[in-house]
Amino acid sequence: MLLPSIDSLGDLNGKSVLVRVDFNCPVESVAGELRVTDDFRIRAAIPLFEELKARGASVTACTHFGRPKGRPDSQFDVAPIRRHLDSLVENVRLLENLRFHPGEESNDPEFGADLIRGFDAYVNEAFGASHREHASIMFPPTVVPSAAGPNLQREVETLLATLSHPQRPFVAVVGGAKVADKLGITKVLADRADSVIIGGGMAFTFWKALGWPIGDSLVDDARVSEVREILASGHVVLPTDVWCLPTGSPFGSGGDTEPVLRSRSVGVGEMGLDVGPESIEAFRRVLESAGTVLWNGPMGVFEDRRFEHGTRSIAETLAEIGATTIVGGGDSAAAVEKFGVASSMNFISTGGGASLELLEYGDLPGLRALRGES
Ligand code: AMP
Repeated sequence: MLLPSIDSLGDLNGKSVLVRVDFNCPVESVAGELRVTDDFRIRAAIPLFEELKARGASVTACTHFGRPKGRPDSQFDVAPIRRHLDSLVENVRLLENLRFHPGEESNDPEFGADLIRGFDAYVNEAFGASHREHASIMFPPTVVPSAAGPNLQREVETLLATLSHPQRPFVAVVGGAKVADKLGITKVLADRADSVIIGGGMAFTFWKALGWPIGDSLVDDARVSEVREILASGHVVLPTDVWCLPTGSPFGSGGDTEPVLRSRSVGVGEMGLDVGPESIEAFRRVLESAGTVLWNGPMGVFEDRRFEHGTRSIAETLAEIGATTIVGGGDSAAAVEKFGVASSMNFISTGGGASLELLEYGDLPGLRALRGES
């Protein structure tokens, strides 16, 4: 896909450039101070900032952070992110959280005009926000010379090339909990990939479609018929055993109850929270012969040590095999970090939702805006 690069902005000496980034990073209180605990997205933008400064531009960045509902909210102040940015690069200003203004999410042109006023050029380096028709993504390209940042460019090229020219066998791994959000892409992948491994909370809507009992596991009842169509592709690989807890037992940040293993059936009053050893073995066999693997979404509630095995196994298998490995952002990116294999992946997207939408539709609103098509 042809997107304008920063070279197309011409001479930037003495110019003022606004860069839309996605610094929506996890922030936690450490020793009484709020600190960024994963700076992957911030580090990824530094080469662009350095390049713009080397070309003589003064650089201002802007980002959203959390969901502050269109008004200032100290909980979502970007101060910790700004401190972290200052520790990595000099002379890059970071504006206040874009979502402190209601006009950001409502794509209000007046807010867009206020935002870009005084700037000579705009760069979108926020792949993870480019599926949103928000003012900071959509408006600036309508009024000033605008370009795609190198990371955004690389994300788009890598993801589209993976889908159109994968080395075969092409294996997709789809997990997580947002069944409704992920069925569209699962359908596309079931058509294009040789195998689609399904895990996590996603799996139980598939089990239900097969008539396997799911107890109180996560399910999207409205999607069962859609899932039947996906199953008809013949490419879906489902878990056959799952680790379960009695419904109501605490999980997520740990708990005392020992999980029980169930095969092809979750009992009444139980919920499935991770794939079991037989499934892990079957997934591993499919992955071992893969030429390309695209992974989005954990295989279980991997935040809880009792339910991390399925996700850990996918991460470790991807690190061992010779395939081209593409990790589609969000929780899968967090998982490869957590299990120490991030550096063995060929590509980790910075955008969960955006990578899914790009793969599903082949384009994003923010990319259309950069091409002058919005
Ligand atoms: P997503 O944002 O759709 O990728 O979903 C990620 C979330 O799915 C993680 O927080 C996991 O804890 C959760 N998850 C994974 N497997 C299950 C499951 N079997 N039941 C409920 N939640 C799950």
